[in-house]
Amino acid sequence: MRRPVDHDDLYHLRHSAAHVLAQAVQHLFPESKNTIGPATEDGFYYDFDRDTPFTPEDLEALEAEMGRCIGKDDAIQGREVSPDEARVFFKDNPYKLELIDEIAGKGEPITLYGHGDFTDLCRGGHVERIGAIRAFKLTNVAGAYWRGSEKNKMLQRIYGTAFASPEALEEHLQRLEEAKKRDHRRLGRELGIFMISPMVGAGLPLWLPKGAVLRETLVEFMRDQQRRRGYLPVITPHLAKRELYELSGHWQAYRENLFPSMHGDSEELVLKPVNCPFHIQIYANERRSYRDLPVRYAEFGTVYRWEQSGELGGLTRVRGFTQDDSHIFCRPDQLVSEFHGVVDIIMEVFGKLKLEYRARVGLRDPENPEKYVGTPEDWEQAQSALLEAVRQLEMPHEVAVGEAAIYGPKLDFMVRDAIGREWQLGTVQVDYVLPDRFELEYTGEDGQPHRPVMIHRAPFGSLERFVGVLIEHFAGAFPLWLAPVQAVVIPIADRHAEYAETVRQRLTEAGLRVEVDRRSERMQAKIRDAQLQKVPYMLVVGDKEAEAEAVAVRSRDRGDLGPRPLGEFLAEVAAELR
Ligand SMILES: [Zn+2]
Ligand SMILES: [Zn+2]
Repeated sequence: MRRPVDHDDLYHLRHSAAHVLAQAVQHLFPESKNTIGPATEDGFYYDFDRDTPFTPEDLEALEAEMGRCIGKDDAIQGREVSPDEARVFFKDNPYKLELIDEIAGKGEPITLYGHGDFTDLCRGGHVERIGAIRAFKLTNVAGAYWRGSEKNKMLQRIYGTAFASPEALEEHLQRLEEAKKRDHRRLGRELGIFMISPMVGAGLPLWLPKGAVLRETLVEFMRDQQRRRGYLPVITPHLAKRELYELSGHWQAYRENLFPSMHGDSEELVLKPVNCPFHIQIYANERRSYRDLPVRYAEFGTVYRWEQSGELGGLTRVRGFTQDDSHIFCRPDQLVSEFHGVVDIIMEVFGKLKLEYRARVGLRDPENPEKYVGTPEDWEQAQSALLEAVRQLEMPHEVAVGEAAIYGPKLDFMVRDAIGREWQLGTVQVDYVLPDRFELEYTGEDGQPHRPVMIHRAPFGSLERFVGVLIEHFAGAFPLWLAPVQAVVIPIADRHAEYAETVRQRLTEAGLRVEVDRRSERMQAKIRDAQLQKVPYMLVVGDKEAEAEAVAVRSRDRGDLGPRPLGEFLAEVAAELR
């Protein structure tokens, strides 16, 4: 999905639609006070101070009024005014007066923009004439505090969206509908993948048995990749002394994402937001020679980051999550080949799941040096090494200034899901800073101490987020190798239960994840439920099947495949899994 940015035409169109909404509200509900109305990623909103909430009927009336206003095709025109002029103009609106004082206080120009009988305090960024808004829709109303603070008055926020053509609007509405069907919070509950317990807390998902099987399958896949590529497993605790993060720089640069620290007898302990400093301690535990490098430590490490409760949702925004994390310590001359090895694993993951992606190099923002740790020289070195490694890959990529991690530049992979939305997943980071701060060394061929370089990488990113994205991408219909239950055996009558159990055993021994549906429901109901649970294969067994040692196969994706000997089905499934 295209994400408009604030200099973008679509953004201007939507912000202009917010003006028209405020105009319509002024016409129909003159007692309400306008506050602010920006464009957003998917549309726009405008906040109004009005004691009675807007009803769905009000929204319909407002849409009709907006249509009439747009029909006049007035030009949007702006002018700069003095603070006093602006104060007189908005004398009855305390919200605008507050904004005017703020803008004037900063010494910035005050501009009014208007069309027809409507004028708003606004920085600008509109279409030239409102007739350009060819398609719009008001979607819902919600309460919102003035300036987002619960100390302020609750306002009425009307949401809407606007496009340059009715076709684009229709497409957008369909995508929203499709996204709702795929919502991983709903599917996660229906498919028994995870739950959120209010007793446990927001942003702390509990994995249910099927979700745990799914997650373990991904972990096993990654472990296998790592074993083949010479990674060594390590396991580290969930908290550490504050000093560790002071040395790594997280305490200073990442403070707002840390949970409050705990005070022990004499120590202050902090839940870990990252695994890196732990792996660094393991590296520093031994003397290293140039011959020992690279050292690749891997851990499915659970980390904890403070997120505002308003930002939490399902598996994609959480307060505790597990990264498929790894840290590679290598010599500078090994950096490019190690980097390529990491990109290789990420390609393996995306290939296995048939995910489309685009690559983005994140560099440091030179305007905001306080967001980072390390010297300009370290950064210069890391950024040119990463750009060189990416250049050698000949992989199309874009460069985004300001998207670096706090200790180094990174290569991110943005995955496009089945309905066109983009998610940031795998990450590779090059780091000269932490080895410096922790004074890591190896002995070179020359017998002298040298500094290793670090690569941080997590192909899935976090297991929580990755599974959340996969649920929405596949709409819960996971490929066979990943499906928590791969086949359900459905006995037609009670007398077939024994044979169904034999089938289950044979398939389980062959390494498949299988359940028997022993409920006294009718066969059709059992098939329907298995289909709703998105189980790849349903194996119906009755008298004929029991006698012939066969199964009647129904595929989730291909429908009824008819009966076949059990051995034949096993061979087919084994081939599909390969
Ligand atoms: Zn405006
Ligand atoms: Zn790291």
